[in-house]
Amino acid sequence: MKTIYTFGNGKAEGRADMRDLLGGKGANLAEMNLIGVPVPPGFTITTDVCKLYVSKGREAVVELIKDDVVKSIHHIESLTGNKFDDPDNPQLVSVRSGAPISMPGMMDTVLNLGINDAVAETLAKKSGNPRFAWDSYRRFVQMYGDVVLGMKPQNKTDIDPFEEIIDKVKAEKGVKLDIELDVDDLKKLTVLFKEAVKKNTGKEFPTSAWDQLWGAIYAVFDSWNNDRAILYRQMNQIPDEIGTAVNVQAMVYGNMGNTSATGVAFSRDAATGENIFNGEYLINAQGEDVVSGVRTPQQIMTEGSRRWAELQGIDEEERKAKYPSLEETMPECAAQLVEIQQRLENHYHDMQDMEFTIQNGKLWLLQTRNGKRTGAAMVKIAMDLLREGQIDEKTVIKRIEPTKLDELLHPVFDKAALDSARRVAKGLPASPGAASGQIVFFADDAEKWAQDGKQVIMVRLETSPEDLRGMTVAQGILTNRGGMTSHAAVVARGMGKCCVSGAGEIKVSYKNRTVEMGGKTYHEGDWISLNGSTGKVYDGQVKTVDVDMSGDFKAVMDLADKYTKMQVYTNADSPRDAKVARRFGAKGIGLCRTEHMFFEGDRIKAMREMIIAENVERRKAALAKLLPLQRGDFEGMFEAMSGYEVTIRLLDPPLHEFVPQDTAAQEELAQELGVTLDHIKHVVASLKEVNPMLGHRGCRLGNTYPEITEMQTRAIIEAAINVQDKGFEVHPKIMIPLVGVYNEIKTQADIINRTAEAVFKERGKRVSYKIGTMIEIPRAALIADQIAKVADFFSFGTNDLTQMTFGYSRDDVGKFLNDYIKAGILKNDPFQILDQEGVGQLIKMAAQKGRATKPNINLGICGEHGGEPSSVKFCASLNFDYVSCSPYRVPIARIAAAQGALEN
Ligand code: PEP
Ligand code: MG
Repeated sequence: MKTIYTFGNGKAEGRADMRDLLGGKGANLAEMNLIGVPVPPGFTITTDVCKLYVSKGREAVVELIKDDVVKSIHHIESLTGNKFDDPDNPQLVSVRSGAPISMPGMMDTVLNLGINDAVAETLAKKSGNPRFAWDSYRRFVQMYGDVVLGMKPQNKTDIDPFEEIIDKVKAEKGVKLDIELDVDDLKKLTVLFKEAVKKNTGKEFPTSAWDQLWGAIYAVFDSWNNDRAILYRQMNQIPDEIGTAVNVQAMVYGNMGNTSATGVAFSRDAATGENIFNGEYLINAQGEDVVSGVRTPQQIMTEGSRRWAELQGIDEEERKAKYPSLEETMPECAAQLVEIQQRLENHYHDMQDMEFTIQNGKLWLLQTRNGKRTGAAMVKIAMDLLREGQIDEKTVIKRIEPTKLDELLHPVFDKAALDSARRVAKGLPASPGAASGQIVFFADDAEKWAQDGKQVIMVRLETSPEDLRGMTVAQGILTNRGGMTSHAAVVARGMGKCCVSGAGEIKVSYKNRTVEMGGKTYHEGDWISLNGSTGKVYDGQVKTVDVDMSGDFKAVMDLADKYTKMQVYTNADSPRDAKVARRFGAKGIGLCRTEHMFFEGDRIKAMREMIIAENVERRKAALAKLLPLQRGDFEGMFEAMSGYEVTIRLLDPPLHEFVPQDTAAQEELAQELGVTLDHIKHVVASLKEVNPMLGHRGCRLGNTYPEITEMQTRAIIEAAINVQDKGFEVHPKIMIPLVGVYNEIKTQADIINRTAEAVFKERGKRVSYKIGTMIEIPRAALIADQIAKVADFFSFGTNDLTQMTFGYSRDDVGKFLNDYIKAGILKNDPFQILDQEGVGQLIKMAAQKGRATKPNINLGICGEHGGEPSSVKFCASLNFDYVSCSPYRVPIARIAAAQGALEN
């Protein structure tokens, strides 16, 4: 097994396409050598060695790579003419992590390794710059103490033990900046640092370069499993098994004096995507100074420098004197950097993020990688590269990270405003967007305040369908309880409304109309801001800005449509949602949850009358009141989606969700309906179920109260005829929920067909319609071949299917989910990311069985997974006809569907 790959002086054993083995950094260091970019020589220990380190332990790895490490150090020495662990002619190295997928800042790095007292003296003499030598030394002790020896703050409120010492020395001397410390101060710091290490760890600071090297190699491998890295992998769905590589490289110094510098550069603007080379640098500094904020970094290009100065309110004279660009201070290096960044971009065909160091006027590249970017920049850069002929259309699609498109659809916070805002709580990023508003706690207040032209945020312990009207008018929703498929989250996503759910730390008191967050008590009417994309809650009103959805965004979407094989439908409950989704490119409605329509305006009254009815006659009378309302709703849907399919689901939720639970409201209802309060209480009590999710809901309602199915079918068919009469093209699909038994769908289908025929006869004309079912109960997947005899289509309801396959309640999963993910029992939330291994098997089987009975059966998905990229790709791999998701996820699903088609 080859464990180490060397590079240097225009040669390399690795290549860019070996990132799985060498990590991103190692692979690109090799590649840069091969295309003639100046890179300090070094070597990469492979990710396979890291995997061994994790499985077999330290000794096994040392045994395996010991000789190769020595040989590879000699390789560096042969190219630089220096010697490792030699006080007379010392070679220092850097040791850096580098995983196949970039995990910025998550793992460890050590610079200036190989230094000790004697080496520092030599470096001081040879460079004629003692400050540089001792500055390097104290930095090394500090980094090594932190990274390898574990000298970290004990509590999160403590200050870093080394920073504490630096602060003390500076205070004694009466100076503010690191740069004001002289050689003697730096020497003193080094001594104090080493004493602190001894005191804390009980061991002498290692002076042998080899001991230092092995310590650093172990530390990088260990850092693969530090808390930060584990969390980052969880959040970004990076597998735990892939491991990190270790890069050991000859040091070059940006801190050797005023002809030395270090910096970071981007070949294009990472925020806007504009094709402008930009970056920051510092003279006489090492890498961490640029990012740490202790000194103000300067701009590389003069144009950028001028723009920066203008924003800072600095005039040209001061800029030139204090903050000159690299073009101005080191014009030759700047010109070389401009040439190299172009070469790298042309080579990788993507925007590059580079690190460089200038040592005594000579430029070295230390890293290049495809740069992280905003959603807007992602789209612009991909389309620009297509137009420049650098990449083809399929590559454009592959380059788009679907979930990042979110940023382009919702108003966003102004970045500067957000940076200065105070964060007061954090919950789940349930529905993206930026929202500011005044706190209200109840739906009716939300409506009232909104009518008065106020912007409100609804703050709730959790939401129920009764809150819908308030949610509709609110800018955003914040809840204390509930996961990503909680009512609040699902509904908010459907509305494209910002929502933060499950913010466990906030204390809501409905009684006092207060919420405690971030050490402050907020009252009704106080302003807060929510970032639904990060789950963060801020004090006060944070400024937002709108985003542009035409131009490149549209161009990318058109490309997706060109390559996709699957349609994207939307889950929409109102004509307004349907129109929004159509604007985002939805090609139909995959799920209209009719029950949501019952909460609008006065219609809840008729619904309640229907539920309270003691006999069929009364129930039918109440349903007759609902019929015209539903028909009107469906007409709106058919018109908004003219030419496309509209899937309407029959009543699904348990009836208790529609009746009032508190006595005051029950009394009101009793008066309205002319019945006694006792009767209402009796009905409400009789609707109570121990486990309503597994109770009297779904098609069980339609099968025990066939008149409900009759009324809804009539409303759908009559609406379809009416809209068709107006000249629109209608394609109704009637969907039966929660089927688990063949006779359930058969009985419902018979009622639907009978009712439809009756309407056709009355009206003397027909419309074509389809009958199908949700596959959302495991048993339905098992007998899908039987169900397909009746169903024209299957729509996989993966919310319920996940719930019932795992046996996790959708509404209670929040109680243990985070612990499960933390402990590694679950990799992620199966209600967000389809569990392909388990639930996916049921889907695959149901698809096969359905197709065996009816080869052309129409297949789709309408659970929340229908807008999640990996789940969409899974559906594409099964050749589904469509996925259906909330309106604001339609563009995401369109891209994911096209990517799925390209991968198949
Ligand atoms: C589902 O179960 O996946 C579904 C779409 O239905 P609901 O979320 O309304 O139960
Ligand atoms: Mg369901």
